Amino acid sequence: MSATAMPGNAVVPASPPPAFAARATSVEGSPVREILALTQRTGVISFAGGLPAPELFDTEGLRAAYDAAFAASARRALQYSTTEGAPELRAAVAARTTARGLPTDADDVVITSGSQQALTLLTTALIEPGDVVLVEDPTYLAALQCFGLAGARVVAVPCDGEGIVPEALADLVARERPKLLYTVPTFQNPTGRTLPAARRAAVARIAARLGLWLVEDDPYGDLRYEGRDVPWLAAHPGAEDRTALLGSFSKIMAPGLRLGWLRAPAALRRAAVVAKQAADLHTSTVDQLAAAHYLATTDLAAHIATVRTAYRERRDALLTGLGAALPAGSAWNRPEGGMFVWARLPEGHDATALLKTALTHGVAFVPGAPFHPTTPDPRTLRLSFTTHTPAEIAEGLTRLAGAVVA
Ligand code: PMP
Repeated sequence: MSATAMPGNAVVPASPPPAFAARATSVEGSPVREILALTQRTGVISFAGGLPAPELFDTEGLRAAYDAAFAASARRALQYSTTEGAPELRAAVAARTTARGLPTDADDVVITSGSQQALTLLTTALIEPGDVVLVEDPTYLAALQCFGLAGARVVAVPCDGEGIVPEALADLVARERPKLLYTVPTFQNPTGRTLPAARRAAVARIAARLGLWLVEDDPYGDLRYEGRDVPWLAAHPGAEDRTALLGSFSKIMAPGLRLGWLRAPAALRRAAVVAKQAADLHTSTVDQLAAAHYLATTDLAAHIATVRTAYRERRDALLTGLGAALPAGSAWNRPEGGMFVWARLPEGHDATALLKTALTHGVAFVPGAPFHPTTPDPRTLRLSFTTHTPAEIAEGLTRLAGAVVA
């Protein structure tokens, strides 16, 4: 105990401040972020991060968009604005969503500070401590943190190489009475896999029949390198009145903008707006207006096509060399888009141990264990292919092969 001097020189004992909330101590910091710190040492070829390639940012176009936002009305760009978001940006998001097959009005959309915030707002609106949240196995780590902080009981839905197994989902919903299913059905983080249309239809039917909210998180859907677009889960019969669809400009413009959105039925949207008022009043006005200018004056589809071409080559470089780099008997998938390949080492191997050796060889990846919501699989790993050229990827895989035989 310390002591505090009082006026008149009297010294009184000081009591420690009260404890943190249980939720603050029950959820750990992201092990992936800690691994990323190690992998950012110079010279390491890292397949660990989930970052877009910075050399592909349209820096000049975005700078011009900020200039245009200031020129149009600096006073507006620098002022407080509405919680739902700038009307022109909501309209632009609605138009893109409609063009991709889901009719959407500007009023259906709330602009958020990254799609991560949309997840937090929906969790605030829907989850009481002890409520069950269903997630894919494995799933996005920061979603697990978000549900954990809300005191949810997270239950893993059995998945195979194509994602959620609908029959298993129906059993779990009947047994656990969950509030919501959180899913990343397109080019999932961490696995890169995509849920086929027939399974989406089945998930929507189960949600309608058994009573369930659906949170469809789609930051990667525009990054398709082959195959055809699969309609959003939100577009399937049964899902209309119970799906929150989350989108993001992070992977198609730049994550530093921190601009995402949610599209949700009116009552849920209103609850999310109240939660956002309490969280940050509104998303940055200047960033929203710059993004709206950018969308109005730039061919975003052409920019995305450039990014896709580069990422497709990078994905192919990783897939070409991975077989020679991983131990014999390993398995991995071939995602049609997104940023990640998911692999599994053979019996008796441990991805965390391999990472330690890999780092001494100047290459890194993320062990898959933290992405599994309940039972960690020590043999899985995630490899991101976006931030290195094909030549660097080949060199990284040569180093990984060296770590495997070390
Ligand atoms: N959901 C998933 C599945 C993600 O992978 C990410 C980013 N890594 C996010 C949400 C958050 O994205 P944003 O930058 O839009 O907050």
